[in-house]
Amino acid sequence: MILQCSNCGAPLQTERVSGKVRCRYCRAVSAVGSLQTQHRVTPPWYRPPPVWIPPPQYNLPSTPLRAQLGVELSVFMVVVLVFVAPLIALAIRSAIDSLSEPRTRTSSQEEPRQRAKTKPTSAPLEEVWPVGTFRCSSGTHSFRFVQSELANAPIIHAEGTCVVMLDHAALSGTGIVAEGNAKIVLDHSDIHAKATFVTANGNAEVDVNRSHVALSTGASLFDLHNNAVVVLQGSPIDGACRATVADNATASVTPAIPCALGKGAFARVTGLTSPVQQRGAKRR
Ligand SMILES: [Zn+2]
Repeated sequence: MILQCSNCGAPLQTERVSGKVRCRYCRAVSAVGSLQTQHRVTPPWYRPPPVWIPPPQYNLPSTPLRAQLGVELSVFMVVVLVFVAPLIALAIRSAIDSLSEPRTRTSSQEEPRQRAKTKPTSAPLEEVWPVGTFRCSSGTHSFRFVQSELANAPIIHAEGTCVVMLDHAALSGTGIVAEGNAKIVLDHSDIHAKATFVTANGNAEVDVNRSHVALSTGASLFDLHNNAVVVLQGSPIDGACRATVADNATASVTPAIPCALGKGAFARVTGLTSPVQQRGAKRR
């Protein structure tokens, strides 16, 4: 099962149903029952991210937190710490004492080994992104520098209360889908949409900032319904724009782009100018 740290938002993998867990990233200790569940069963593709950048809503410094070992605090571990650890320490000390060699030599031998261990974690950060569609229904999921190319499937399908944050992603597929109260935030990313870039309904929200969107021929930019809100800022679009914004949905695009728009009665649209209007504006 995967829970969500209430202090930094990181995923916490555990099989415990009660007791306490310690966050690998921020070291906060929380009662299992008090944490939000991201996945009842740990998905087969899940790998704990090597580092975690707390999303802005957690009010922590946005410096990456490195994963540390020792995720769980349990009664068993307390027993180990209280009773077994002193015995081990005694055994180690007597072993060291029995070796009459100077200690400086052992410490100089340890050092290169430790350095070799820490080297891989300082390599470029890469978080785990599934091979197929990224699906979620709860929790906050942050990804940086991920890449994926899907022939005929959505890149992201977020529903429920899921929050997906992508930074510097390069993704290709039919598009992204947001439903329910889901929220998707794309920053500095490259998206190639083959069908519809953003399909959103319910109260879903999609924010696209400083990204680049390529639409395949015949693909549409938005298909928005109900109370969905999509905000596109500083994100150039490649390809002929078509969009549907219906019901109470809101689409806001800055700077404005020409787009063939199918607009519902209560839809709010800014920044999608009809190709005809643009021609008129130019004449002035
Ligand atoms: Zn944490």
